[in-house]
Amino acid sequence: MYEQERERLVTNLCKEGYIKTERVKHAFLTVPREAFIPDSLKNYAYVDTPLDIGQGQTISAPHMVAIMCESLDIKDDQKILEVGAGSGYHAAIVAKLVGETGHVYTIERFESLAKKATENLKQIGITNVIVEVGDGSCGLPFYQPYDRIYVTCAAPKIPQPLIDQLQDSGKLLVPIGDKYCELILLEKEKGKTVVHRLGGCVFVPLIGKYGH
Ligand code: SAM
Repeated sequence: MYEQERERLVTNLCKEGYIKTERVKHAFLTVPREAFIPDSLKNYAYVDTPLDIGQGQTISAPHMVAIMCESLDIKDDQKILEVGAGSGYHAAIVAKLVGETGHVYTIERFESLAKKATENLKQIGITNVIVEVGDGSCGLPFYQPYDRIYVTCAAPKIPQPLIDQLQDSGKLLVPIGDKYCELILLEKEKGKTVVHRLGGCVFVPLIGKYGH
């Protein structure tokens, strides 16, 4: 029922330059966004916009998920940490990108959202994502180090625990600011870090010890 809408959205995201690689395109085509959206909003599943998922939080707009996936250059077999599971949609896309031998760990501060995200992921048969409840501004030390870490909410500055939990040669993506923010990519190489500014964006705030 939603397949044509999904294909149309993906075609547009490619044309607009948000999706750049076949890998990301394939992930977007194989994850049904409607499965992560409350019943009352399912008709909007393939509109390129954030949508409410409860607790005042949102599932990110598809173009933002695409930008983040492309800039992280996610590869097969990697271990990824997501801060802010929300609906579980972005984690599902990343789960496709790391493949069956890769692992995604995602941490969410609201227990109700974490529970729903777990159900959503199970419902579409994704088995390589673990959803935890907690303050992701402190990272998730138990499974460290991570090849890639990304934050789906805006932090006042890059949380040091996330830098510490990043593997050497790893990449960390964090929106910095307060709602209106800038996407920052940090690359770690031989213990040194290099920071790139990727442009403006809008996110809900990161709440926690190293958040707002
Ligand atoms: N990735 C999500 C998706 O695909 O639906 C969208 C995430 S939403 C934009 C941001 C999420 O970050 C919210 O669910 C919010 O509760 C969560 N969040 C905010 N601060 C957090 C923290 N310190 N630890 C974990 N999650 C946090």
